[in-house]
Amino acid sequence: MELRVRALETVLGEKGYIDPAALDVLIDTYQTKVGPRNGARVVARAWVDPAYKAWLLRDATAAIAALGYQGRQGEHMVVLENTPAQHHMVVCTLCSCYPWPVLGLPPVWYKSAPYRSRVVRDPHGVLAEFGVTLPAGTAIRVWDSTSEVRYLVLPMRPDGTEALDEAALAALVTRDSMIGTGLALAPRVPVASSPR
Ligand code: FE
Repeated sequence: MELRVRALETVLGEKGYIDPAALDVLIDTYQTKVGPRNGARVVARAWVDPAYKAWLLRDATAAIAALGYQGRQGEHMVVLENTPAQHHMVVCTLCSCYPWPVLGLPPVWYKSAPYRSRVVRDPHGVLAEFGVTLPAGTAIRVWDSTSEVRYLVLPMRPDGTEALDEAALAALVTRDSMIGTGLALAPRVPVASSPR
């Protein structure tokens, strides 16, 4: 595959259809600037700022763009808020549609046929395979991405994070928690405070 890509790139370059410098910028963008850290910053902001969260749930595309994250595959964003009663999971049953500006490129399993077919039929089972068990009263809703609409899950803020600032909160937000196949991480707390 690598050789084929290289051959194709060479031919397209020689014919003048692509600019190698532009390709380098694109590759650098997806390797270093676009990824789940962007989405984690969006989530952390929503956790600390109720007005931002309301905006995010009302008009995710604009609220996310306000933090500087926009572009291809993120033109029409919808944010789904997880609650104790409702857990959201995202899939693209047709192919691999995914919100690139906030999550980067999709993981291999997201593109796999087993995930795409099974998460619809058996979301609880798929979630268990990711190591997540939800309380009995939590319903799961599965959202099918389309070529237009991309979803970002707003995971629940973990308990015991009242004292954390936005950056520390963002570090608890995993990629999977924003797809719905995981939860935000619990904070690492000191075992015991030293006597004063
Ligand atoms: Fe797709």
